[in-house]
Amino acid sequence: MSGKVWLVGAGPGDPELLTLKAAKVLQGAEVVLLDDLVNSQLLEHCPRARVLRVGKRGGCRSTPQDFIHRLMLRYARQGRRVVRLKGGDPCIFGRGGEEAEWLGARGIECELVNGITAGLAAASQCGIPLTLRGISRGVSLVTAHTQDDSVPNWPALAQGGTTLVVYMGVARLADIRDGLLAGGMRANMPVAMIENASLPQQRECRSNLSRMLADATAFHLSSPAVLIIGDVATRAEQALARSA
Ligand code: SAH
Repeated sequence: MSGKVWLVGAGPGDPELLTLKAAKVLQGAEVVLLDDLVNSQLLEHCPRARVLRVGKRGGCRSTPQDFIHRLMLRYARQGRRVVRLKGGDPCIFGRGGEEAEWLGARGIECELVNGITAGLAAASQCGIPLTLRGISRGVSLVTAHTQDDSVPNWPALAQGGTTLVVYMGVARLADIRDGLLAGGMRANMPVAMIENASLPQQRECRSNLSRMLADATAFHLSSPAVLIIGDVATRAEQALARSA
């Protein structure tokens, strides 16, 4: 008898931003493999499960991906209900796709359960509407960090007319700025940098494209943080100014 693996999004950090479906799946879990950006308070939903911490944070000591794959496989083959709990959404820069394919190729049933991804949560927490009629016709979620060190196509993103939400960008602010400026984005394009979105220690730094590196340095911006780049990034300030 084979078990099953649920790849579940834990949301951005605030335990209330977990979906009802994720909570239900956690309640039925026998084994939980926990990522390190996941709030441990969520474990209240699975008091009886065996919890294994398998953090994979860039630059820190981490559990090799292959080992995580094999753990999921082993427990599923024992007939267990396995939950792989990941920060944000499992398929937004979360390797959910890779893990689902790997398990599928070995005949293990796998289900994805959405989580609220950090970029969307960060925007709401700061009152930034990511799309806005007449201002932003879309959103691009991009990572500044690629496994093979290839550079994102910043010039194309600069011209796309969408709000950019950049993950894993804190260490690459100079490259992002230079790439977007080279692509023709305005130097005074608003930028919001949001650290620890949705958690009590959330901090926001408002800046613009040409100043963002200096402002982030003065602010001691650190990971995890997302950047929101686009005209919508000033909207919350305007709304607050109007209501003041
Ligand atoms: N699957 C996750 C993303 C994992 S990649 C999701 O959907 O949110 C890790 C990156 O996510 C971090 O480098 C940072 O850019 C972003 N991130 C995760 N949690 C965050 C938070 N609470 N606040 C701001 N950024 C966060």
